[in-house]
Amino acid sequence: MNERASVGCRPRVYLETYGCQMNIADSQTVTAVLRRAGYDLAEKAEDADVILLNTCAIREHAGERVLGRLSDLARMKNRRPEIRLGLLGCMAQHNRAALVEKAPHLDLIAGPDSYRRLPEMIGRAGFDPAVDVRLDRAETYADITPEHDGSIRAYVTAMRGCDKFCAFCVVPYVRGRERSIAPADLLREIAELAERGVREVVLLGQTVNAYRFGEVDFGALLRMVARVAGIERIRFTSPHPSDMTDSVIDAMASEAKVQPYLHLPVQSGSNRILAAMDRGYTVEEYLRLVERLRAAIPSLALSTDIIVGFHGEERRDYEETLALMRTVRYDQAFTFKYSVRENTRAYKLGDTVSEEEKSRRLAEVIALQEATSLELNRASIGSVFAVLVEGPARRGEGMLSGKTPQFKTAIFPALGARPGDTIKVRVESATAHTLMCAAV
Ligand code: SF4
Repeated sequence: MNERASVGCRPRVYLETYGCQMNIADSQTVTAVLRRAGYDLAEKAEDADVILLNTCAIREHAGERVLGRLSDLARMKNRRPEIRLGLLGCMAQHNRAALVEKAPHLDLIAGPDSYRRLPEMIGRAGFDPAVDVRLDRAETYADITPEHDGSIRAYVTAMRGCDKFCAFCVVPYVRGRERSIAPADLLREIAELAERGVREVVLLGQTVNAYRFGEVDFGALLRMVARVAGIERIRFTSPHPSDMTDSVIDAMASEAKVQPYLHLPVQSGSNRILAAMDRGYTVEEYLRLVERLRAAIPSLALSTDIIVGFHGEERRDYEETLALMRTVRYDQAFTFKYSVRENTRAYKLGDTVSEEEKSRRLAEVIALQEATSLELNRASIGSVFAVLVEGPARRGEGMLSGKTPQFKTAIFPALGARPGDTIKVRVESATAHTLMCAAV
């Protein structure tokens, strides 16, 4: 430990987070664990005694970014050898052997189920890196209240891990098997968040609607969370289409606090590719689900994930994806080029679509989605929405931003509204990503 620590100051930790909302929520758990152990948070890596990167392994690109950042931090460690440098999360779990070799400046490597042991790991990090990547079927961190960042929206992990084993995905290997957190623990955490000013909770899980704790399924959990005083809006991500049961759809349709927005990953519009990916549904089943959802929740906005260029994807498979997008007309889509990940079932199949072709397909998918998003947003011009105010808009003096129930970003004049207020706004103009509004 450095001089500051030796003269009695609390050691400081700097934590940088990559990847999905699960990682953001995990970083809040890590912060809580380290606070309990006597650490303060540093605003910048330069001010810290311990630097931790919470990483993502879902795509190759994410790993490359982290390796780049690690080499910057290695230079800092050369100047200040007393700092402790650690890698957490999915990449730590996925690439630990290579990392020990490729990144000798790392002092510790901790997988997603090892955060409770971080203080000891930091303490014993020295000549050899401390490595702890044990997956633990029982670890849910249910007794640790994550350190919330003070915003009006909080992410709350309802379940961890995944049992689906889609052919392209590393998650079941790096985050382990499904386990749900007891409703009582979740409700306690959410009630505490409400007391601290949180108005919207986003329930998280890799397949969040597979949640089950005893008799409580995800639909029942949504109904319980809807009873927590002070919480006005409930969202969740990411559900799997196969777990979108009547119980969940009924809860969405009948609980006013559950917002009419659903991220429903489809990945491909080709049955052949869906089968190769082992997604567990056909295009027809997925479309029937979309129909059921829209019949039950008429104001529903939908977003999705799409992968282009999976092993064996021919032009006609890809055109079926475009056709599905035209049929569903998603409000938003998160689109990716397939990236082969080691240790997945698709790894040995390799890549059959060139990078150039993947880029072409991706550009087309993005262009189609942008056009649809713009059309749908323009169609809402003149409509009135209740917006939960989040804070100042990034662009525009005196403007605030917030989300509509459909999770669209609205920008509107401040007019005395404060974060946490819900106000009515009318859409005056729209881009593919933003609704410009006036107060009603
Ligand atoms: S459902 Fe499939 S894509 Fe989603 S986390 Fe599980 S294995 Fe990965």
